[in-house]
Amino acid sequence: MSSLDSTAISRTHAPDLIPGYRLEKLVGSGGMGEVHKATQLSLNRTVAIKLLSQQLAQDESFVARFQKEAAALATLHHPNIVSIVDKGSTPTTYYLVMEFVDGASLRERMRASQEDPSETVRTMVQICRAIEYAHGRGVIHRDLKPENILFDDQAGGIPKVTDFGLASFLEDTSTRFALTSTHVAMGTLSYMAPEQKVDAKTADERADIFALGLIFYEMLVGELPAGSFDPPSRRKPGVDPRLDGIIARCIKQSPSDRYASVSDLLTDLQPLAPQYTTVRPGKLGKMQRLKLAVRRAVRVCLQVVATLLVLTAMGVLTWLYLLNQDKRVPMVPGAALTADLGPPSAQQMAGKVDTRGDERSASLGEGSDLPSLLVSGRVLDTKSRALIFPLVEDSQSRVGLARLDVVNLDGNVARLSARVSAEGPESTFVARLRATLFGPPPEPEAALLLVGSTGRYVALVYNGEGGPLRLDWSLGERRGSMLGFDSPPSPAELWLEVDEEGVLKAFAGSRRNEKRLIAEPLHLGPDWAAEFGDITPKPSFGCIEGTCRAENFSFQVERREVETEAVAAAPRPAPAPAKVAPAPAKRPATKASPPSKGKRSK
Ligand code: ADP
Repeated sequence: MSSLDSTAISRTHAPDLIPGYRLEKLVGSGGMGEVHKATQLSLNRTVAIKLLSQQLAQDESFVARFQKEAAALATLHHPNIVSIVDKGSTPTTYYLVMEFVDGASLRERMRASQEDPSETVRTMVQICRAIEYAHGRGVIHRDLKPENILFDDQAGGIPKVTDFGLASFLEDTSTRFALTSTHVAMGTLSYMAPEQKVDAKTADERADIFALGLIFYEMLVGELPAGSFDPPSRRKPGVDPRLDGIIARCIKQSPSDRYASVSDLLTDLQPLAPQYTTVRPGKLGKMQRLKLAVRRAVRVCLQVVATLLVLTAMGVLTWLYLLNQDKRVPMVPGAALTADLGPPSAQQMAGKVDTRGDERSASLGEGSDLPSLLVSGRVLDTKSRALIFPLVEDSQSRVGLARLDVVNLDGNVARLSARVSAEGPESTFVARLRATLFGPPPEPEAALLLVGSTGRYVALVYNGEGGPLRLDWSLGERRGSMLGFDSPPSPAELWLEVDEEGVLKAFAGSRRNEKRLIAEPLHLGPDWAAEFGDITPKPSFGCIEGTCRAENFSFQVERREVETEAVAAAPRPAPAPAKVAPAPAKRPATKASPPSKGKRSK
């Protein structure tokens, strides 16, 4: 902006020269007159008022030009073009009211300092957009120069094109012709296209492109190209060499060698301009790079951990599922206990054995004898006075069986008893999770059995969880199960007794309750021992799941004469039920008749 001695010039104009406005200060002057900073009183805002000099106001062609500028500006609304507010006349002259651009002109900027080349490209793109827009509205500027480009500090320093005083309308050739003869001389020769100098009426958009090329060159290099000039990139380090061809094409002598339109020029120029961002991406500092790397590493680690967690969860579920499958014993307890559990191992334990005389017995826990046990499936703990199948984690076999292996324990009356308990594993988190996912675990069961040769047995099964007691048997063709009353709490006293007539009865009780028959007697017949196959039935203790314990394990046999009359008088024994009978609802206690001569267990 050219600074003038405002007082000297403005003295000629009273502040209230134009109704509705107050002239504040002279800010510049050009070929047509003066430009004043002023206040628009109605809106109390700052505007710029251009006054045609009184002398030129007498000249019709200048008045026409002044009107032309107003008409041109009135058609243009663009952020990079100074907008018009009003126009009018006083008794002495004419005036234009425009938006006030508060900032330096490009000329002043260039004088002050040289811009960074990439910033220059950005500025040039904005100026080109303004001219592209004006051309699109049919307006050719025809006097583009650094003095007519003002930077609006209030709007972030964007460039605005002003002074459309020589503008012509593309469609209006008569006016263009009428104005040109005078105005050719008035345009700024340095930026004027060669064809405009010769004959302004032939000048079209390409004259503006010529001026834009020169301004661009001057912005980059600091001076106008003269004669056979060097391309900008050779004159100034840091200038993109691709700009050389663009500028050279703008300032070709022949308009036909130039860009046909500013749009074409922008097509080449725009890609070379830095992107518009509020924060310009700068080089990252060491700390920033480190932070970024740490953030990236944390993100990757979290992703890996999440993936591993999902895979682990899937693995645990599969494992629990398989474990659960493995734990299920599909057979009836008696069958599971006497199934093939692998080769047995022999174990000895303190006890008492008496195999002489009619009444023979063997007991485990106390005594100086060391009766043998055949143990299959699970590990048996005999260290204390009890037979214990402890819970072995991850044990493949859920079933354990210990058979008392003492010879000469045969007779036609037998009685097996023990105090038995069965407990499930402790409720751990994994156990609870498994129960939630796959249902409750199998219940712990302990049993007193008489086991014969393969697949032959009678088992009194005690459910540690309070479920019904049951009697399972498999004696050749005769197989079945009977459910009794609910198991008394651990420990429970269990008895299996067979009398000389082959009537097998199972009893249960607790320390407080008396001995109760748990189900119907099994009528096996006087030759009942033969039902167990070709070996003498062995008294046994079995365990399924959990921890099982048997104390006071004792077995007594005796030979007793069978009273033939009684046999003849006795009704035939009812065949044992072949299927599992429904659990009787709290069967009334049945007083069992103990074997007439059998020893009573404690
Ligand atoms: P002329 O048409 O007489 O050549 P210009 O339009 O070039 O006049 O204006 C002359 C000077 O006045 C410019 O160089 C600039 O410094 C100042 N000027 C012009 N228009 C404005 C405006 N809208 N806001 C602020 N200053 C302006």
